[in-house]
This record gives sequence, C-alpha cells and structure tokens, in this order.
Amino acid sequence: MIQSNQQIYVDNAASTPVRDEVVAAMQPFLQTVFGNPSSIHKCGIYARRNIDEARERIAYCLKCHPDELYFTSGGTESNNWAIFGMAMASEKKELITSQIEHPSVLNAIKALERFAYKAAYLKTNSFGEVVPEELETLINLNTALITVMLANNETGVLQPVDKISELAHWHNIPFFSDAVQAIGNVELDLSKGLFDAMSFSGHKLGGPKGIGILYLRRGTKIEPFLHGGGQERGYRGGTENVPGIMGLATAVELAINDLKKKQSVQSIKLRLLEALHDIPMAHLSGRLDNTLPGTLHICFDYVDGSDLVRYLSMNGIFASSSSACASNAKEPSHVLLAMGIPYELARGALRISLNERNTIDEVLYLAHVLKTAVSTLRSMNAEYRNMYMKK
Ligand code: PLP
Repeated sequence: MIQSNQQIYVDNAASTPVRDEVVAAMQPFLQTVFGNPSSIHKCGIYARRNIDEARERIAYCLKCHPDELYFTSGGTESNNWAIFGMAMASEKKELITSQIEHPSVLNAIKALERFAYKAAYLKTNSFGEVVPEELETLINLNTALITVMLANNETGVLQPVDKISELAHWHNIPFFSDAVQAIGNVELDLSKGLFDAMSFSGHKLGGPKGIGILYLRRGTKIEPFLHGGGQERGYRGGTENVPGIMGLATAVELAINDLKKKQSVQSIKLRLLEALHDIPMAHLSGRLDNTLPGTLHICFDYVDGSDLVRYLSMNGIFASSSSACASNAKEPSHVLLAMGIPYELARGALRISLNERNTIDEVLYLAHVLKTAVSTLRSMNAEYRNMYMKK
C-alpha cells in the first residue's frame, strides 16, 4: 500500500541513487586516504595501488584487460574523447553515426563538422532501431569512425550493434559505442572484440556522478583529449578522482551481480503496462522484446509531456518526458522525430525507467495517478475538448 506522502522514483535512466556499499567504498578515500596518486610517498602509493585494483576489478566484470580502461569524468567526456580522439588519430575525414545518439555524441560530431570533417546520420525504423543495411550505403574509403549507441537513453531501444560491428570491421573501420544506458542492464562481454571503444558513466548504475570510463581495445588508435601531467598513461591528464574510481568499481561489481534481477524489473514493467492498457490514445515506443528491461516509453495524444511530469511530481512521482539533459527543451525529442513519430504526438512523451528498488505497489499507484493525470490534462486541452468532450 502506498502512503500519499511517499515518493516514487522512476527516473533511473536520468540518474540513480548511490548505493550504500558504494558510499562505504568511497568514504576512506575522501578523508583518510586522500593522497595524490602521483605522489611517491606512502599516501600516494596507497591511493595508486587502490586505483590499479579498481581498474582490475572493473576489467574482470567487463571481460577486458585493465590497461584497456581509462577513467574519465563521465559519459559526456568519454563520448567527446572517443569521437575527437579517434577522428583525429585517423587520416580519414568522415564519420557515421545515428540520428538518435545522445547530445554528447551528436554535438561532438557537430563540433568536428566545423573542422572540415563530414558526418552521415543513420535513420531508424519506426521501432527506434537503426537499420544496419543502411550502413552499407554510407561507408566509403574516407570513413574514419562508426559510432552507434548500445541502448537509447529515451526509448531504451537496443541497437543492432553486433551487425554494425561486423560491417564496420569488415571494412576495417573502428566501431565506438555509447553504452552509458546499457551497462548493468544487459550482459556485456568485451572479450568478444565487437567494440574498439565504449563509454560508461558511474551515476547510471548506482555509482557517483562525475566519474566514467572510456574502454579502448588494445590497438585502437586515439589522440589524448585532456593534456596534462601524464595520468592515465599519458592519455587523460588530471589528478585521478580516487573516491569516484573506488565507488565506480563497487557500483560496477554490484550492477553486474544484479543482472539476474533484471527479469523481475521487466515483469514489474509489464505489470505497469497492463495497468495502463485502458488509457486511450497512448502509444508505446519501441518493441517490448528489444528495449532495456526497466524502460517504458509512451506518447500520449493531447497531452504535453512536461505537464505530465509536473503533475506526477506534485503527486510524489518522479519520471521524465525525455532525457534529463533535454528536459527543459520546448521542441520534441530528436529521437522520437527520427522514429517518424508526428511532432504533436512526440510532445506527449513520458519515460518511466524502473530499477530493482521499484515494487509492484509503486507501479500500480503510478498507473492510477497517471490515468488521472492524462484525463485531467486532456480536459484542459481545447482541441481535445472540441473533438471528444460533449458540450
Ligand atoms: N550517453 C547516454 C546514452 C546518456 O544517457 C548520458 C546521460 O544521460 C550520457 C551519455 C552522459 O553521461 P554523463 O551524465 O555521465 O555525462
């Protein structure tokens, strides 16, 4: 039973609470073991040793080599570094990406376009999936890099990265994938060699904000992005975020261990969907069997998604109308428009992203409030009133 003053957080794709074990792992490195890992006294050596161990623990979870992992400040930095660094390390001047990437990918590529690079953008089908066959028509001898995300941050739709990697590698082109939403939600085995580079972020999987990873497969050519004092083997300058790194290692271990719980997250999502079935003019985005287990994305006719989010928030429910970084935008999401969703309908988007903390009681309460929200907001919409409400 949900109390009226209870708060329900269903915006885990935007950020997750830091797990208790993660806080405990970080704590000593904030105050007791605060040495600079580059110092050669005992304090520094101890911090350095812990960073090395953290890198090994993460590598074990992701099935890669520790020397393939570079700590960054998060997903945005990892994406920018991969795109700028890999483009600049190549003599070729063209990039291929998709229309549905996160802004930290799209805007990095836009920035490169100002420096004489060219970009081609893959479309998606109506389910929000990139169509690999289109890639064949875009690849040419001047293609320096292909970058397509593993799972979309708005719809949760999984992309056909296996097929994309196969095509990229057949043409000898490096393949980078933004896996910020995927890690901890789907199995990842980097030993298979599908990816030449991949980005991760701590705060999407129960870790702290401001820490992330760029995975670079051995042999991947990349230019450094932050020039500094030689940290991260000379590829990413700046004193390491030791507490963040320690928290991230614990968060990754816990998230990988918890992968088996994702089936129950998926069944809670299905229960929610069932409870919402009688809302008319509601359109599910993506195919249920090809989305992240916890993400449910729906567009409602005659409702503004941000009004819906505010209504839910006033009732103690925290969801999202698009990605967190675009939630103030007036325009509908580029992801939904790329899927061919009509402009007006795309404005009525709601993203609910669950994790293992959410319960059936919570989602049933959410369904109840959401139904009232949709009918209340529609009754305030003049066009809807004219079309569907008796005078
Ligand atoms: N890529 C994707 C798919 C994301 O969802 C996000 C964050 O929302 C990012 C990149 C950026 O990550 P960070 O917030 O760590 O900069």
